[in-house]
Order: sequence, then structure tokens, then C-alpha cells
Amino acid sequence: MAKIFIDPGHGGSDPGAVANGLQEKNLTLAIARHIREILLNEYQNVEVRMSRDRDVSVSLNERANMANRWGADFFLSIHNNAGGGTGFESFIHSSRPMRTRQLQQTIHRAIVQQLNVRDRGQKSANFAVLRLSRMPALLTENLFVDNANDAALLRRASVLQLIARGHVNGLASAFNLRRNQVYPPPPS
Ligand SMILES: [Zn+2]
Repeated sequence: MAKIFIDPGHGGSDPGAVANGLQEKNLTLAIARHIREILLNEYQNVEVRMSRDRDVSVSLNERANMANRWGADFFLSIHNNAGGGTGFESFIHSSRPMRTRQLQQTIHRAIVQQLNVRDRGQKSANFAVLRLSRMPALLTENLFVDNANDAALLRRASVLQLIARGHVNGLASAFNLRRNQVYPPPPS
């Protein structure tokens, strides 16, 4: 069983980036729920927990602690970007462990393949959740809420599904997830 911990960024009193009528905390939760739903519906050897499943404040420490206590195999933090720019980028911790770099490459590429947006690259940073989680950890920045074109994409439910699908494809490949048996349809 692969134990995947999904962390929808922000929440509660912390909305994250706010622009163009969008609040990051709502987008991250929607994407995280889609990822969980697809993983549990379509794959058999995977368990999922989330740092939050509603609009509530959770500290960065507590997010990492929850994953550590559970003994997660992977920590996946979902965010949307802001500050001027467009497209997708992902981060691992600045210590750049080899295994984590490999997972970033697999998952990053799978997401970019789903989205026809600018690939801003595979990056590293000393973000708290990446530093404090004791398992490989990746943080994805899924488009810019303060960019009009990106915001228009983020308003479409189908785009949030595509973002989730990209994450799932990457996770499935990185953790050798097995698809559920699909029984042939009855003869017509
Ligand atoms: Zn964020």
C-alpha cells in the first residue's frame, strides 16, 4: 500500500492568494479532493489522507506532523501561485534528496503533459512543509490566481480535473499503483 498524504494549501483564516474572484484555499481543496477521488476510485494499492477536508486553519507544523504520525510514503502539497507570472512549477526541499528529485521529475512531467501551460520548471526551496515532513515531499504551484488567463482556466471545473489527473498519473507511475480490475461489460 502506498500511503499518500495530500495537503490542500491554506484554509480557514488564511485564504492564500486572492485575485480575480478566486481564493487559493478553495482551489487547493477542490484539486486535492479530485486527486483523492481518482486515486481511490481507480487504483487498489493506495491509501489517502488529507491535512484538511474543509475550510479550516491548520498550521504548517501540524500538516507535516499529521503525515509524520501516519507514516506517509509521500507528502503532496497543493498550491496555486501568485505574484506575476503564468503556468506550472513544482518544489522539493532545498536539500534535494535523490529519491525526491526522481519523484518530482516523474510527477512534474505527468502534470505538464495534462496542461497546455508554461512549464516554469522543477525547483527547490526551504518551504516549511517540505522541511518538516520526514518523507519525500513535493509542493505544486498550479497556475497563477492573479493572472487573468490562468484565473480563467482555474474557474473551469474541467481544468481542476485535468490538474488532478496529472497529479494522479504521476503518482501512479512513481508508486507503481495498480488499476482496479475492470470487468468486461456484459454481452449485448
Ligand atoms: Zn499557497
